[in-house]
Amino acid sequence: FFSEKSAKIFVAGHRGLVGSAIVRKLQALGFANLVFRTHAELDLTRQNDVESFFAAEKPQFVILAAAKVGGIHANNTYPADFIGVNLQIQTNVIDASYRFGVKKLLFLGSSCIYPKFAPQPIPENALLTGPLEPTNEWYAIAKIAGIKMCQAYRIQYKWDAISGMPTNLYGPHDNFHPENSHVLPALMRRFHEAKVNGAKEVVVWGSGSPLREFLHVDDLADAVVFLMDSYSGLEHVNVGSGKEVTIKELAELVKEVVGFQGQLVWDSSKPDGTPRKLMDNSKLAGLGWTPKISLKDGLVGTYNWYLDNVKQ
Ligand code: GDP
Repeated sequence: FFSEKSAKIFVAGHRGLVGSAIVRKLQALGFANLVFRTHAELDLTRQNDVESFFAAEKPQFVILAAAKVGGIHANNTYPADFIGVNLQIQTNVIDASYRFGVKKLLFLGSSCIYPKFAPQPIPENALLTGPLEPTNEWYAIAKIAGIKMCQAYRIQYKWDAISGMPTNLYGPHDNFHPENSHVLPALMRRFHEAKVNGAKEVVVWGSGSPLREFLHVDDLADAVVFLMDSYSGLEHVNVGSGKEVTIKELAELVKEVVGFQGQLVWDSSKPDGTPRKLMDNSKLAGLGWTPKISLKDGLVGTYNWYLDNVKQ
């Protein structure tokens, strides 16, 4: 993959947190023939439109980072979107990629594919060994179907489709929506607005005790190109940072980075979600990849990006 700098690469979802980081990474590495479509130009849930796009563009590599994503509240509120839209996008893109001659495809999922009470850290083979966390099972079922589709196409058609399962991601171009986003951007925005407005308190959801692992999206992008180059296995690969913090520790860290001086107030009417989800990274480490960006450095960079973009 690294030697194919002029190959046509379709990054699906290039405006999102993950897709935009992958585009930055590919461009920095000198890949010069990237192809994108905005949502308005190509609706990936429409099979005919996706097929026409592949027939016309004939990309050689596909990185599938387009998905309907959101935090715990969004998953609970829009279950039909989380299962339906994701199944449609991934089915259309994976199938068209195969049929229109794509050499290799990488499908991205999430750590929520694993059972709620999986062993910690969670190895890849914990998939489908127990019931899912109910607050995100709709999204998880779609992503599990995507992994299985890549495996099935590899087995039946000898086609090179792989899957990477990142842990909780953050970074530039995240969704900072107050209710529908994930915890890290939600807190960054809330602390920032509290600081600007001179508020004394900031509300944080749940008990603060759940443990979460966070990976900077630039580290994920680095892992994605690494996997495109060096991995062609049947099993999906975890991509994590190997470091976990409690939501309380995260909130304190974001508060410090933003420079908010007031108090935290815990809203116990909001769900905690799964108690812990730390990925077992040993497979990817064994292949030769490790993350580089610390949570503190990543938060500082993300806050600077937020400050530059908050008006938009
Ligand atoms: P999850 O990792 O799938 O559970 O997704 P989230 O990022 O939405 O939530 C992670 C944890 O952060 C949960 O325990 C939430 O209750 C907690 N949390 C605390 N404050 C917030 C907030 O403002 N927004 C979100 N989304 N989660 C929050």
